[in-house]
Amino acid sequence: MISETTGARGPVIAVIGGGASGTLATVHLLRVAAAHQLPLSILLIDEHGRHGLGQAYATSHPEHLLNAPASQMSALAGEPDHLIRWAGAAQTAGCEFLPRRDYGRYLLDTLAEAERHAYPLCRVTRMTAQAVALRHTSGQRPLRLVLSRGCVDADIAILATGHQPAALPCAAPPSPRIITDPWAPGALAEVAATGGRVLILGTGLTMLDAAVAVTSGNTRTRVVAVSRHGWLPRSHSLEPASVRMPVWLPVTADATGPVRLAELIWQVRSAISASPGNWRDVVDAIRPAAPGLWQRMPLPDKRAFLRHVARHWEIHRHRMPPGTARLISQLRLTGRLAVQQGQIGSVRQHRDTLQVSFGDGEVGGCTADWIINATGPAVVGKTTGPLLLDLFASGLARPDQLGLGVDAGLNGALLDSAGRPSSNIFTLGPPLRGIWYESTAIPEIREQAAALARLVITARQARNRPGSAA
Ligand SMILES: Cc1cc2nc3c(=O)[nH]c(=O)nc-3n(C[C@H](O)[C@H](O)[C@H](O)COP(=O)(O)OP(=O)(O)OC[C@H]3O[C@@H](n4cnc5c(N)ncnc54)[C@H](O)[C@@H]3O)c2cc1C
Repeated sequence: MISETTGARGPVIAVIGGGASGTLATVHLLRVAAAHQLPLSILLIDEHGRHGLGQAYATSHPEHLLNAPASQMSALAGEPDHLIRWAGAAQTAGCEFLPRRDYGRYLLDTLAEAERHAYPLCRVTRMTAQAVALRHTSGQRPLRLVLSRGCVDADIAILATGHQPAALPCAAPPSPRIITDPWAPGALAEVAATGGRVLILGTGLTMLDAAVAVTSGNTRTRVVAVSRHGWLPRSHSLEPASVRMPVWLPVTADATGPVRLAELIWQVRSAISASPGNWRDVVDAIRPAAPGLWQRMPLPDKRAFLRHVARHWEIHRHRMPPGTARLISQLRLTGRLAVQQGQIGSVRQHRDTLQVSFGDGEVGGCTADWIINATGPAVVGKTTGPLLLDLFASGLARPDQLGLGVDAGLNGALLDSAGRPSSNIFTLGPPLRGIWYESTAIPEIREQAAALARLVITARQARNRPGSAA
């Protein structure tokens, strides 16, 4: 069944994915279209019905906090105080690191406000379905999106599909006691309710959130978290960002020429050794410049970064808020959370018990009642997502050179298998990781969303002008 979009006013834009990327793209599209008096129909499509929230902000757990201060998390490009003002009005102000469920409310409110402002010129239709394929058609609208139930036709498609579904890093039997994706709706509910011995694979921010979730309702639960290096994310400073010193690095000041990894590391090390207590300020100085630096880095240096430096960067750049650091310390001090270095070889299930062996020549193993995979999203080469697999198979998209996401122009236009930019299929957020590296957090996503909205709306206006060939 093809849903009727032929009668819609103005262009139809299918935004695939209702998380923060899809929501911010929709908000910015509505604002730019309203400012230009351009009618628009937006289909906001999410497989789990988490419109406005997505993976990160659908949590209801009060201890799941933002890992960046509110001053950096505005949804609107060019309005850095927007979240702070919302928090003041919603009476959630006062904490630097808001609960993520409050941030979800903020995204929902911001979307609702943009809809109100653009109504009746622009409308958003929320659809709960999985997009499984995308085709060019010769019909009135040039794109047909195949959904898990039916199809929709659109003029433009925006892939806001977030990270690729997580994959287990080892062989394991299918089992309800192995949670492959801890952010799937309700995934941790039974572990939290029944508890026991929980093995978490991975020691990053997702592990911290999963450990907090499964221990908070059940004092008998014991968690062991394992990763190859056993490193935990560092914590944020207790000092508010406003009182810290800005750091200047030569590489962030000069915006021309290639950036060599060795030189970059040398500059970072020098800045840190000049003031060891201020390593956070050095990382924070690099962070906003990171997408530009990545663009200017030669491919072999990017590969070397991924192999040798990325893990160090991740634990220093993705920091835990002080509140989470306190909770994690308590769990570790009371023996309810242990962090270990190791590599899981294989998992077998005997009745309700999972038997885990360590691989790669390490001896020993352990038993667990539950295993939670917190090793992070899959790279595109290992994706099981049907839409991406279809786009690669049809040649409408290709992986980026590093295999982290999809290949695209700097404006987010998908590149097809021959490297030609699409005029009507775009993406933003995590799928652009290979292009920008830092492309998964709100500060980058809101800028991409604003630029994409301007691009799409001005292109449409140009088509509508009298005398235009289109
Ligand atoms: C636990 C967690 C905490 C985080 N905390 C922060 C933070 O504090 N600050 C920060 O800046 N960033 C944070 N991030 C980074 C986060 O990636 C971004 O902030 C942002 O949420 C990414 O949103 P997204 O819409 O791209 O992806 P997602 O939130 O994953 O949303 C994508 C949505 O698209 C749906 N979807 C995917 N494929 C299809 C399809 N084919 N058809 C239909 N629907 C589909 C998915 O089900 C999902 O609902 C966090 C991430 C996680 C996982």
